[in-house]
Amino acid sequence: MNAIFLGPPGTGKGTQAERISVELGIAHISTGEMFRQLANEGNPVGVEAKEKYWGKGNLVPDDLTIKLVKERLAKEDCKKGFILDGFPRTIPQAEALDKITKISKVIDIESSEEIIIKRLSNRRQCSKCKKIYGIDVPPKKEGICDICQGKLIQRDDDREEVIRDRLKVYEKQTKPLIKYYKEKLITVDGEQPIDKIKQDIIKAISLK
Ligand code: ADP
Ligand code: ZN
Repeated sequence: MNAIFLGPPGTGKGTQAERISVELGIAHISTGEMFRQLANEGNPVGVEAKEKYWGKGNLVPDDLTIKLVKERLAKEDCKKGFILDGFPRTIPQAEALDKITKISKVIDIESSEEIIIKRLSNRRQCSKCKKIYGIDVPPKKEGICDICQGKLIQRDDDREEVIRDRLKVYEKQTKPLIKYYKEKLITVDGEQPIDKIKQDIIKAISLK
C-alpha cells in the first residue's frame, strides 16, 4: 500500500496517517514533521526553510522537498508500503513522485474552512513525543501530554494569521492535485468523528 493523504491543513491527515500506518505496519512520512525536526535540530537548511517558508505559511521550494522525500522513500521501512502525509503539495512534486515510485491510492480528506480554522487554532502538539491534541482529542491535564508528560505547545504556523495564508496556498498550489489524481482519488468526509474518518479511510484503501 503506497498511499497519499491529501486535503487542506487541519482535516486530521497527520492524526489519521499516524494511526493507520501503525495499524497497517507501514511507514508514515510527514514532510511537515521532517521540516519541523530539521529546524529543531538546528540544521542550517532546516532553519532557513522555517524562517523563509513554512513559518510564514508558504511552501518550502519543490527541489528541497523532493530531495528529502526521495531520500526518505529509499529507506528500508518504506519497502512494505507507506503513507505520504503532506506530500505532494504541488503538481511538480506529484510529477517527481511519479518518477520515483508507484502510488496505489490517494485519500482526500475534506472539511469546511470554518472547521479547519477552529481546529488549527486549538491544535497543540507534545514538544517531546509529537502527539497531537485538539478539540476532538483534548489532553487529560491542560498543557501536558497524556503519554509522556511533555509540555504541549502551539505550532509556529498554527497562529490564525498564518492559518489563513496556509489555506490560500492550499487552494492555489495543492488543490490542482485533486484533478491530477482523479483516477486514484477517494474523498472522505473529514468533519466526522476521528474513528469514523479512520474507518472510512481503511475501507477506501482496502478497495481493489
Ligand atoms: P498541515 O498539513 O497541517 O499544513 P504539515 O505538517 O503537513 O501541516 O506542514 C507544515 C508546513 O510545512 C506547510 O504549511 C508547508 O509550509 C511545509 N510543507 C510540508 N509539506 C510540504 C511540501 N510537500 N512541499 C512544500 N512545503 C511543505
Ligand atoms: Zn508526549
